[in-house]
Amino acid sequence: MTTRASAPSPVATPIEEACYWLARSRDAGRGAGLAGEEVAVLEGEHDADLAIVGGGFTGLWTALFAKSLEPSLRVVLLEREELAYGASGRNAGILSDTIDHSHALAIEHFGRQEATRLVALGRENLAEMLAFIEAHAVDCALEQTGVLTAAIAEHHLPALAAAVDCARSLGATDYQLLDEGAMRSEIHSELYRGAMWNPAGGVLDPVKLAQGLAREARRAGVAVFERSGVTSLEADGPLARVTTAKGTVRARRVVLGMSAYTHELVRRAAWRFLPLYDYVVASRPLTPEEAALIGWKNRQGVNDARSFFNYYRLTEDNRVVFGTSEAAYYAPNRVAPELDHSPRHYAELLASFRALFPALAELEFPYRWGGAICASTRFTPFFGRALGDRVVYGLGFTGHGLGTTHLAGKILAHLALERGSPLTELELVRSLPLPYPPEPLRGWAVRRVTSALRHVDAGGKPSLLLRCLDALGIGLSS
Ligand SMILES: Cc1cc2nc3c(=O)[nH]c(=O)nc-3n(C[C@H](O)[C@H](O)[C@H](O)COP(=O)(O)OP(=O)(O)OC[C@H]3O[C@@H](n4cnc5c(N)ncnc54)[C@H](O)[C@@H]3O)c2cc1C
Repeated sequence: MTTRASAPSPVATPIEEACYWLARSRDAGRGAGLAGEEVAVLEGEHDADLAIVGGGFTGLWTALFAKSLEPSLRVVLLEREELAYGASGRNAGILSDTIDHSHALAIEHFGRQEATRLVALGRENLAEMLAFIEAHAVDCALEQTGVLTAAIAEHHLPALAAAVDCARSLGATDYQLLDEGAMRSEIHSELYRGAMWNPAGGVLDPVKLAQGLAREARRAGVAVFERSGVTSLEADGPLARVTTAKGTVRARRVVLGMSAYTHELVRRAAWRFLPLYDYVVASRPLTPEEAALIGWKNRQGVNDARSFFNYYRLTEDNRVVFGTSEAAYYAPNRVAPELDHSPRHYAELLASFRALFPALAELEFPYRWGGAICASTRFTPFFGRALGDRVVYGLGFTGHGLGTTHLAGKILAHLALERGSPLTELELVRSLPLPYPPEPLRGWAVRRVTSALRHVDAGGKPSLLLRCLDALGIGLSS
């Protein structure tokens, strides 16, 4: 993670053209919204039972779960830009079953019993999500390839062996270790020393998934409004009044699925999360000859075992999407279009790619983009309330939101409709993560931890600062 007090110089390409998934969808939709439908803007006064703010995965899943709990519920969803404009349309599309980011961290934060529950819940959550995709014929280029975590330094091997033991001890008995030969025969790179293999999960096209969810939400009767940014939330008697530039919604309950933007409406939420920018590049399609040079026949999602790791996958048409978890923090808690590009991150991404696959050193990467994720000190989602319980929110999905937003949508629907569920009894729902320090300490702390983690990634020993954070179970990465 890096921190900057000011923005990098803006690069002109707007996100709709810079991000491969969004650009492709826009071309296919020929002028319709990102979800392939005409954009409806909220105008005038509306009443609803539930208003949802944010048209990413969290908002869309919450809408779907709320309608499945109570089909007659009047649900309005409001998105400031167009559906999937945020991280949901910009991610790498690597789907995993982990709710806790790292099973060892879950034990530290919640104890072994709850960590075991989270592992089982992660698998259940993934299975339910895949069943939904199948039942509703959501064409999102899903490939159930599993996910590899690659060792690219000797000291990663004992760490991965410990992670496999930990996963197995919590019930994920199908995790495996691959030795150097086995990993290199999967994907041909001299950098690999071995890998951890989690057969759950895979890769998909996130914008196509969002389009499918939006289609099903509309079918279920959810009123979806885009270009309808919420400017204020106020109490209106026992209800909440949600105001946009051209309209209002009076609702019994409001759910915020705003992720890294949540503090724009609920300022105090910023105590508990960092908005961080992840950056990604996507290549042109590989030729069959280029693909043969690197193998990767089983097309797994991959990340490496560093603190600041690269993550990568192949698209349906054999492009390489290659990202970095060395996310940037822009003080104070900034999330804005001019942060969507970072030439420094792009240069580092290309250098990492070329070091991993020197045979593809000439491969062009025409798409380059970034997006804001949101991290909590305990690396798990968390939930909060505002406006005298009229507003419920859920965030903190880090770089695992593809799967965890499905679970969060279910939790948020239950919380908003006041329906009892074992899910709302989870420790990660009932308790809050430790806060981050306020500015200017926040930016300073991020800078210190970033350089300490870089030192470890370069083979150095963890500093006292990192050992203290480790003892508290506080991590920093995406
Ligand atoms: C570059 C990148 C790579 C990633 N890779 C992966 C990956 O491979 N696998 C994985 O699992 N996760 C990945 N993630 C994380 C994942 O994308 C997120 O965790 C997830 O999409 C969060 O979804 P969300 O709906 O909560 O938030 P978002 O998708 O960010 O949605 C929030 C929405 O709220 C809207 N909004 C904001 N303010 C307002 C307002 N005032 N009124 C109305 N609407 C508003 C925004 O426009 C936005 O559309 C990645 C993220 C990034 C950025």
